[in-house]
Amino acid sequence: MSQNQSLFERAQRTIPGGVNSPVRAFRSVGGTPRFIERAQGPYFWDAEGKRYVDYIGSWGPMIVGHLHPEVLEAVQRALHSGFSFGAPTEAEIEIAEEICRLVPSIEQVRLVSSGTEATMSALRLARGFTGRSRIVKFEGCYHGHADSLLVKAGSGLLTFGNPTSAGVSPEIAAQTTVLEYNNVEQLREFFGSLGNETAAVIVEPVAGNMNLIQPTRAFLTALRELCTAHGTVLIFDEVMCGFRVALGGAQALFGIKPDLTCLGKVIGGGMPIAAFGGRRDIMAMLAPLGAVYQAGTLSGNPVAVAAGLATLRLIAEPGFFEDLGARTARLARGLSDAAREAGVAFSADSIGGMFGIYFAPEVPKRFADVTQSDIPRFNTFFHAMLDAGIYFAPSAYEAGFVSSVHTDAVIDETIAHASTVFSTLAA
Ligand code: PMP
Repeated sequence: MSQNQSLFERAQRTIPGGVNSPVRAFRSVGGTPRFIERAQGPYFWDAEGKRYVDYIGSWGPMIVGHLHPEVLEAVQRALHSGFSFGAPTEAEIEIAEEICRLVPSIEQVRLVSSGTEATMSALRLARGFTGRSRIVKFEGCYHGHADSLLVKAGSGLLTFGNPTSAGVSPEIAAQTTVLEYNNVEQLREFFGSLGNETAAVIVEPVAGNMNLIQPTRAFLTALRELCTAHGTVLIFDEVMCGFRVALGGAQALFGIKPDLTCLGKVIGGGMPIAAFGGRRDIMAMLAPLGAVYQAGTLSGNPVAVAAGLATLRLIAEPGFFEDLGARTARLARGLSDAAREAGVAFSADSIGGMFGIYFAPEVPKRFADVTQSDIPRFNTFFHAMLDAGIYFAPSAYEAGFVSSVHTDAVIDETIAHASTVFSTLAA
């Protein structure tokens, strides 16, 4: 039995499914998850000493690669001053100032420890601010695992949602309406009937949890207009795309200002930090100033803040996103070209340091399109690439991530391996 297999068997005895977050279990692609021992730059190594080019980057945070010397140094410095105080620090002000400076709509920001906490708290704040209960989300967008957000569309359009997880009560799910991403007409129809009783619309302004799906400009513009007209709080969940598609996030790239923004992943550089922030008048409703309660023992943890600040400083350097975007586009283009030469129905897309690969002839625009892609073929591709030492996301429904240390040489090597795999797929 291989070392990964024996670790997986051992893990399953004391950890449900052997993992601490479901997608790590390789359920959709099959096979044995790799247990990672260490990482450096664009690579990580499993328990058998096999090296992989890492295209998940901890699902987004590792935008400057693993163990970047400046981030490592900042973390080491912070560690020597103490792990956690439960009292404020100057570094928390610095990261708040940096976030407010970089993200156009954020006037005030509160740190939390996970993206789930950020979205859950932003929703409570929007409900407290508006005095309304209903929220809207979009099919295929993931916003963490708070009850109101584990919801799928009901039987008819514009109806009450149904839980997607056992343990979410139908009464809670019923307050969430699930609409189709990029469907402006449906959005208008919804606001026409229920807009005035809707507290918030939460959206991934670039979607990365149904593989990568880019928004249409018309969709984002309609969201902003309709929310303003109906007094509904527009929440951009930029946990994944913030500081990933552009320095100021999707809102800077598309020029649309939400009322609240959720951040995570990159702002912690691999440590557990997330945040929500936005309009000063809304943020003023948070405890200790206002009536909406929210708190956290480890919120603003000094070691995590140090990693986040060091990462933000690196990505704010001139040219960072131009380079990262060019690298990521090189990967997407190279994979598409290789598939076309082999005669495999495939497409790829990228934006900033995020990419999507689809076993479908055209880049999808909504969740239903992604479900139409050739998922068994993706699974075969995934395993062949894994054997070749290339670690893509282990699911056809996930986006991929490139870091600033994935050099052109690393990317070209990936494309060369993919070329070989595409030819065997076509045969
Ligand atoms: N929102 C988005 C857009 C995400 O991608 C994720 C996690 N992938 C979350 C929220 C939840 O974040 P966390 O896993 O840190 O709770």
